[in-house]
Amino acid sequence: MSDQHQNLAIIGHVDHGKSTLVGRLLYETGSVPEHVIEQHREEAEEKGKGGFEFAYVMDNLAEERERGVTIDIAHQEFSTDEYDFTIVDCPGHRDFVKNMITGASQADNAVLVVAADDGVAPQTQEHVFLARTLGIDELIIGINKMDVVDYKEDTYNDVVDEVTQLLNQVQFNTDDAEFIPISAFEGDNIAEASDNTPWYDGNILLDALNALPEPEPPTDAPLRLPIQDVYTISGIGTVPVGRIETGIMNVGDNVSFQPSDVGGEVKTIEMHHEEVPKAEPGDNVGFNVRGIGKDDIRRGDVCGPADDPPSVAETFQAQVVVMQHPSVITAGYTPVFHAHTAQVACTIESIDKKMDPASGEVAEENPDFIQSGDAAVVTIRPQKPLSIEPSSEIPELGSFAIRDMGQTIAAGKVLSVDEK
Ligand code: GDP
Repeated sequence: MSDQHQNLAIIGHVDHGKSTLVGRLLYETGSVPEHVIEQHREEAEEKGKGGFEFAYVMDNLAEERERGVTIDIAHQEFSTDEYDFTIVDCPGHRDFVKNMITGASQADNAVLVVAADDGVAPQTQEHVFLARTLGIDELIIGINKMDVVDYKEDTYNDVVDEVTQLLNQVQFNTDDAEFIPISAFEGDNIAEASDNTPWYDGNILLDALNALPEPEPPTDAPLRLPIQDVYTISGIGTVPVGRIETGIMNVGDNVSFQPSDVGGEVKTIEMHHEEVPKAEPGDNVGFNVRGIGKDDIRRGDVCGPADDPPSVAETFQAQVVVMQHPSVITAGYTPVFHAHTAQVACTIESIDKKMDPASGEVAEENPDFIQSGDAAVVTIRPQKPLSIEPSSEIPELGSFAIRDMGQTIAAGKVLSVDEK
């Protein structure tokens, strides 16, 4: 065990082996929940497997997932010598893209899984784009299913070249990317160097995870607590609930809700059904503020200190990456923006610059349109008041997803905010 914590995203195309890899990591680090082991120990013995086998972990994870039970590859935890890892949302998961962007789960680093027998696929590209836009620091690339390609070095090198090209395209610094030939299913190069890849002398996966840089310490940003819901509880009154993204909330603090623009003194804070004097980042809290009624505030408001209230944007400038749009995006387009707990229709007022993903340079000033695969700087006007922050100041409140036609069509980071 270690006290350093890492939020790890496992990304990659569907069926390339993300769940299997998570199962393998849990298994190899002894982190499979005890009840999972108990349930299947007997069964494994009955079937003459003579002990607990990795396959049973996977069966169980798959089975529970089908039954819609809580065990899922997201939110699993395992520890290495260096870090306690939490797997944050995995793609394939409903709302993954949205969660990843809106700060519900900020990953520090990511493992990209690419199946050796399939190479770069559409979601490989989408997730690498996202990882890049959202500032994932380092990428470990597991070239998976090496057993399927008979552990051939040539095949591995071809896929490495293909992925390197993709990373260069989105300007991911390939010095910060480490490639490893693995088989999540067979366990090659995960916890032990594999005899099947004598031509490979780099890190095994667990060593690469141990070698990740320490995550940036939490910012000393002011309190920001996006409101998820507002309840009325008899005996207490109005109780907004949400997760503290940054800063500290103390009983007695004077707070402000934006954009509703009301405020008051925090009377009580409750966490896990117990009253607490203060709460910090990551805590899910319900609290009560003197003088605030149920209709004064709503989901999408952000609570912050009265003397440093959350910003409310008249307009904001942002860097966006278009992931999938059937046609082109032009000025005037008004899709729904998802930022923290807010969902607000916003108009793309102007497309200011199109960026060349290969060089990072401005490719075109004031382009007429942008389309799938493009990165651009745009100016956005919310159609209703929206609280949002520059990503450089409060990253947790500085990113958003753009949704239309039931899918995420773009993701972005706020560069600057023009307040009312
Ligand atoms: P995900 O959609 O990315 O989470 O992929 P899964 O982990 O569900 O894997 C998809 C399929 O590939 C499953 O049938 C796995 O058993 C299989 N699979 C995953 N990793 C490996 C591997 O390393 N070798 C082989 N042969 N099969 C694998």
